[in-house]
Amino acid sequence: MGWKSLDDMDLGGKRVLVRVDINVPIADGVVTDDTRIQRIVPTVRDILGAGGKPILLAHFGRPGGQHVPELSLKQLVPALESAFGAPVRFADDCVGYEAETAASALAEGEVLLLENTRFHAEETKNSVPLAQGMAKLGDIYCNDAFSAAHRAHSSTEALARLLPACAGRLMQQELSALEAALGAPKRPVTAVVGGAKVSTKLDLLGNLIEKVDYLVIGGGMANTFLLAQGIDVGKSLAEHAMTDTAAEILGKAEAAGCTIVLPRDIVVAEVFEANAPHQVLPADQCPSDAMILDAGPESVAAVSEVLEKSQTLIWNGPLGAFELTPFDAATNAAALKAAALTRDGKLTSVAGGGDTVAALNASGAATDFSYISTAGGAFLEWMEGKTLPGVAALEL
Ligand code: AMP
Repeated sequence: MGWKSLDDMDLGGKRVLVRVDINVPIADGVVTDDTRIQRIVPTVRDILGAGGKPILLAHFGRPGGQHVPELSLKQLVPALESAFGAPVRFADDCVGYEAETAASALAEGEVLLLENTRFHAEETKNSVPLAQGMAKLGDIYCNDAFSAAHRAHSSTEALARLLPACAGRLMQQELSALEAALGAPKRPVTAVVGGAKVSTKLDLLGNLIEKVDYLVIGGGMANTFLLAQGIDVGKSLAEHAMTDTAAEILGKAEAAGCTIVLPRDIVVAEVFEANAPHQVLPADQCPSDAMILDAGPESVAAVSEVLEKSQTLIWNGPLGAFELTPFDAATNAAALKAAALTRDGKLTSVAGGGDTVAALNASGAATDFSYISTAGGAFLEWMEGKTLPGVAALEL
């Protein structure tokens, strides 16, 4: 497995079609969180620095193959110009005469932004003719949208096969971090998987038990595993229909030599509310009128012990109802432990998935993790062991 990076391409004077993810939140025409824009700056700057001409291809929202004015990428031009420190031209379509003219007229030092790829219904069907239309605009293809790589679309898959292709800086960073965490990791490897339900993370758990040495299960999904062990979880969020599946996962983990770490003590409350009166109890003593909202201090100590033994950590999902204080305590404590070990050079820590990023940011631990992926769905599919079409198309 391998792919080319921008360093392997001769960029001088070349038009580089860069697939980016600039699907940023917007309110009244103003970008409210520009993280995704900031993350593509190194790629755009490096292309400009090498005398290349970046031409950005991206989707925005879900226009469903229609021209939806509110989902035009034109509104992002000012935010892109200020992030890149370079003029950004705009073409009203991502293929066709106008786009071709704008691409040919692009001067060195300028960036061209093409209109929302999803205004074409063929984009999400991975249409080759649409990709051929895009390929006419550039000499080189660069994919910097790992977060869109789990979808085989014209701009992420078909196009990569029509031009000399490489990974952008962000894609390169994601792939290296993920390779370090699950591809060829330093052992022991620990996975922390939390969140609401087992049912949404079955494939992920199935893949991880084959690959990691320790699997820490937390959050609502741990309740289903406690149920599978015959433990009453009262009014807790749990999937009663999934107990057989949970038991099966426990059996397979044992056979694969993967140690499962479940909560030893629990924090319970009678209502799902911030600051609800709560108590810490052994994991098998949840009162029938209470619900488990977090893991207790003994559980955190057990997780910390596992992290101390580990060289690699991959994390998805909170260990409790982290949006409600104080039920964020276990998530915060475990995250800070992982951050400290990473800072000391003892642990490679990679985390990702929507709620996980929010939880780790809230704990203050995120900045010390080796890598935090903001890729969401693509990160989860990768944790599930799936081939991502956008990555496969770049492979040499
Ligand atoms: P997920 O999207 O599957 O990662 O789940 C994240 C959600 O799980 C967050 O909104 C948490 O509040 C919720 N969650 C985690 N632990 C619990 C719990 N013990 N009871 C109820 N919700 C929980």
